[in-house]
Amino acid sequence: MGRPRGVTGEDVDPMSEPLRIAIVGGGIGGLAAALALRARGQDVTVYEKAAEFAEIGAGVGVAPNALRLLDGIGIGDQVRKIGSPRSIATVRTWQGDVLPVGNWPYASARDGADYTVHRAELQSILVNALPVEVLRLDHHAVAAEETGDGAMVSFANGAQATADLVVGADGLHSTMHAAVGVAARPTSEHIMAYRGLIPMERLSWVDDAKNGAMWVGPRRSFLCFPVSSGRLMNLVAFVPTDHDAEESWSAPGEVAALAAEFTGWDGPVGETIDALDATFRWGIYDRAPLPRWSTSRITLLGDAAHAMVPHLGQGANQSIEDGFALAVLLQDIAREEIPRRLQVYEEVRRQRTSRVQSQARRAGRIYRAGDESAAQTAHQMDELSDGYWLADYDAEREAMNALQRIG
Ligand code: FAD
Repeated sequence: MGRPRGVTGEDVDPMSEPLRIAIVGGGIGGLAAALALRARGQDVTVYEKAAEFAEIGAGVGVAPNALRLLDGIGIGDQVRKIGSPRSIATVRTWQGDVLPVGNWPYASARDGADYTVHRAELQSILVNALPVEVLRLDHHAVAAEETGDGAMVSFANGAQATADLVVGADGLHSTMHAAVGVAARPTSEHIMAYRGLIPMERLSWVDDAKNGAMWVGPRRSFLCFPVSSGRLMNLVAFVPTDHDAEESWSAPGEVAALAAEFTGWDGPVGETIDALDATFRWGIYDRAPLPRWSTSRITLLGDAAHAMVPHLGQGANQSIEDGFALAVLLQDIAREEIPRRLQVYEEVRRQRTSRVQSQARRAGRIYRAGDESAAQTAHQMDELSDGYWLADYDAEREAMNALQRIG
């Protein structure tokens, strides 16, 4: 490819030309990446298969490691406003004994709180921070390929988009996997979750601070945390399953079946289930770390790159970290440097996300062990957050450090 030319025909410094970046998937990861990349001068378009951003989903955690990044682009306070800070006050055994856990939630950092939010509200904040022309709804990507000096995405509606770089942020069942030459099925943890949202005033056990709580026990755990500025309590009840539960964000479940799973548990657990109007089933999946995430001009991000089980509440946070790291690595570069920078992105992010993935699995095993003493369980839960490795991580700084290392 020749040196780029400006509108008047003169040579343009390739370093001053924004990269044209096509992001496939307008979930939390894709939208956050779009904001981070635009903040560093890139020309971004997000292609989302849904026709609209619907109110699907329930609670997600935004931890300090992601919130600091959102602060950097000026939207952190909007997230705090829709969220509830440090919302899990107590962890109990299934019989109601308080566990002496010293440092929970695990994402607690030296300089910030965790916020739990409704995913749809978080998505709205990200969408509203982007100019409308950046978002292309109703664009279901079916394939992507390199074109020599860039990449092209094809959509089910017949449209095509060319760009210098394509980012696959299309979630657990990524179509973009094929474009980077990987084929890896999601792995079931042999548990599923019932989820639901309950108006806060229905729950007599909730304290004035509207704190959530968690109960751990044999093969099951029961998690409650507030969302929507404390108006709603989000319930996630993990239970064993012999078959792969439907992987969906909106599959209906039966409240009676949920209640049967938790017969004999601490009183507030039953009270919470009784207060539900409806429940949804959620299959819990992750995926072993992929052999690679990138080609020269196509890469992956978020769940597409590193789906993880939700027991550390880091799925959305890791996808946000990815986008901000990528933005650092692509800033002010010539197009020819893209392949090398994608390698660096993959190295830095794979190391980080592989650790979070494996610790998230471990967390689930601890919560549902049931055969440990309360003190042992508390000790193991404390160990998960040892050293603040999760929440004090600065994805932008780590990306900059990696750049310095390669010179
Ligand atoms: P996702 O959030 O899965 O986003 C992927 C996006 O890509 C989606 O918008 C999807 O429609 C789009 N997409 C997929 N394939 C294509 C394609 N071929 N072409 C174009 N677009 C495509 N996690 C929780 O912990 N609690 C929840 O309540 C919760 N609810 C969710 C509800 C929905 C509808 C979705 C999609 C995800 C939900 N998650 C939830 C998952 C959570 O948001 C992610 O694990 C995490 O935020 C990582 O985000 P991501 O952007 O990598 O992937």
